Amino acid sequence: MNTVPLLLSPAIALVGGGWLGPELSHPSDANIYLIHDGHGGVLIDAGCGLGSADVLANVRRVGEAIRITAIVVTHAHADHAAGAASLSAATGAVVFATAPVAAVLEGTATERSGLEQAKAAGLYPAEVSFAPLRADVVEDGDTLRVGGTELTLLLTEGHADGHLSVLVREADGTVSACTGDLIFARGRAALLDDSEETDLSRWEASVRRVAAAEPDRLLPGHGTPVLRRAASHLAIALTALDAGVEPPRLIDSDTRPRRDLP
Ligand SMILES: [Zn+2]
Repeated sequence: MNTVPLLLSPAIALVGGGWLGPELSHPSDANIYLIHDGHGGVLIDAGCGLGSADVLANVRRVGEAIRITAIVVTHAHADHAAGAASLSAATGAVVFATAPVAAVLEGTATERSGLEQAKAAGLYPAEVSFAPLRADVVEDGDTLRVGGTELTLLLTEGHADGHLSVLVREADGTVSACTGDLIFARGRAALLDDSEETDLSRWEASVRRVAAAEPDRLLPGHGTPVLRRAASHLAIALTALDAGVEPPRLIDSDTRPRRDLP
């Protein structure tokens, strides 16, 4: 069955995503956003690698002429990062990541992806793997341009080390926050109880930083893209933090994927 990408704005399309979202590509894929001007394109996140053909087909459905020149990997978890190698090989795109994430992509710190533990927990099929890949290291505040759209990379840790969010400012002034696994629709969080990289105080600082940019849209790494009123979604998390309680979680323990998922 052919899928069609979801057009979110003149410059942004959702071209991949799995069971926690639109089922546009492999079930284990995070949301993959295309930022484009009809000719050049940047992908934000890369999926797990098993859905790369579907992702590229969706890019072509947005525009036959679009050439992917860059892939920004928000963090090193396999559902966002493991597909960077196959997508980069197919397109020639440069892969951008922070230093800790680049180390995972290059194969020198693969254990930090958490992939083996996640496979053992039944979260990924056995075929998901990292192929060594050289990434260009980026830093907080770096920018990219796609036509009249500017992308600003923000270091937003708290879910995982080296985590980036991307502020996408379109020519009309609209700002979208692509937040990876930092924060989701309705202010939800992905705080990993068994990860040393999850840190609530750093998470809070990162969410407040994204909120300070006053994005119009919230385009998270899983679940629903928020196309208006992003502030009211971020406010749910901020209100919880102000009250000294944890924000609501993206996944309850009883809705985790079962081992028999593909
Ligand atoms: Zn993650």
